[in-house]
Amino acid sequence: MKLRPAQTALMLAVVAMLSHLVSGASLKKKEEAVASIERHKVEIIALSDQVWGFAETALLEVRSAQVLADYAEKQGFAVERGVAGLPTAFVASFGQGRPVIGVLGEYDALPGLSQKAQAPKEALQAGAPGHGCGHNLLGTGALGAALAIKDLMAAGKLKGTIRFYGTPAEEAVGGKVYMARAGLFKDLDVCLNWHPSDETEAAVDGSQAIVEFIVEFSGKTAHAAADPWNGRSAVAALELFTTGLNRMREFVKPSVRMHYSILNGGDVPNVVPAYAKLWCWLRDSKGAGVQKLLAQAHKIAEGAALMAEVEAKITIQGGSWETLVNLTGEKVLYENLRWLGPVAFTPEEQEFAKEIQRATGVEPKGLDGAVRPWAAPKPDPEGGSTDVGDVSWLVPMLGLTVTTAPRDAPWHAWPTVACAGMSIGHKGLVYAAKALAATMVDLYEDPKTVQAIQAEFKEKTKDVAYKPFVPAGPPSLPKH
Ligand SMILES: [Zn+2]
Repeated sequence: MKLRPAQTALMLAVVAMLSHLVSGASLKKKEEAVASIERHKVEIIALSDQVWGFAETALLEVRSAQVLADYAEKQGFAVERGVAGLPTAFVASFGQGRPVIGVLGEYDALPGLSQKAQAPKEALQAGAPGHGCGHNLLGTGALGAALAIKDLMAAGKLKGTIRFYGTPAEEAVGGKVYMARAGLFKDLDVCLNWHPSDETEAAVDGSQAIVEFIVEFSGKTAHAAADPWNGRSAVAALELFTTGLNRMREFVKPSVRMHYSILNGGDVPNVVPAYAKLWCWLRDSKGAGVQKLLAQAHKIAEGAALMAEVEAKITIQGGSWETLVNLTGEKVLYENLRWLGPVAFTPEEQEFAKEIQRATGVEPKGLDGAVRPWAAPKPDPEGGSTDVGDVSWLVPMLGLTVTTAPRDAPWHAWPTVACAGMSIGHKGLVYAAKALAATMVDLYEDPKTVQAIQAEFKEKTKDVAYKPFVPAGPPSLPKH
């Protein structure tokens, strides 16, 4: 992207403003934050391994939330559990007054991804869940950062409030959306988050908006051979719906993603199915695009029902807004990544990564722990959504990714689980804790930086009224 002169001037001003941050008193406090993380490292890694072993899926993260909340409490945080109607959500706070800075933690696993902390692929327990998105690292890394800030506050070296948010179910209903609706983020000055990845960078690309919903068709059953003319097939409507949705693919922007699972497609061929059910996710780079897709999906469902002479019903289950990127804040994060330098991996860890790459058919390049250079954000990010997006429309959000897995190896898959349970993942989580804590030191130390971040946020949100996708009431809890 070519910058206009006004943008260039702004960037130079931001760079000039930030250049003093890694010097003097601030630098000393960052070094102390890093030392604090080094001191707590063994405990934090043990917590991560515990959560990795629990591998609890969305809204069932009972033990994972408990060990993290217990540890925060033991370290002196005031902990409120079961917030926003979510039994596995909690908020841990320390300090008082402004600025109030939050850091987000996740700890849900994914179904069916059980894997030993090894290459090659081998389940720890066949069919069981596994941490295929590295959220065991995410939650503990963020907590480690909050802990380092708490230590500095307790020593009288930083003033303000630090808050760690235990946010469940990122992989399903999006716990943060419910926490946002409950107003839990509204008094934050700035919020931070990180995510495991195969690269280390300031996250300037954001994420996609998403809506997810259930489509149900209700028809009339009959004997499929004796009197099919007395039946009306719900599955026929479901097939027409997916045909309509798939035809639409030709006419949507490249940033759109549409995917679905058929949850109920009839039971036996000799019964005209009276009921059919499908779970659909629609994404685009912006929320407005998603709203448009949802309106189209409604029409397709109605059309399908009309053709099959059955009834259609769409129930919104949830969704997330796209992540609003705060470039002023990302620049502060980026400078701290540069200060920390690359994530350093050993030859044994590189060999472990290459074994995974060979096993999954990608180029055996190993791990890339280098800090990626600052790059202009993409206007239409592709490839994924997160409930961090919702929080980013309520408070300025700073995010980064840190290397915890081999370059280009499949994500939400066994390689991520394997690395999240051994030293590669541990290194990423410790690095993330340091990067987040160092950035927070800048925020506590320099009110002008916080003001500049907030000014960008206000400008970008001035015409936007945040409204969550999720329906009223708490999400229904899945069964164990
Ligand atoms: Zn994730």
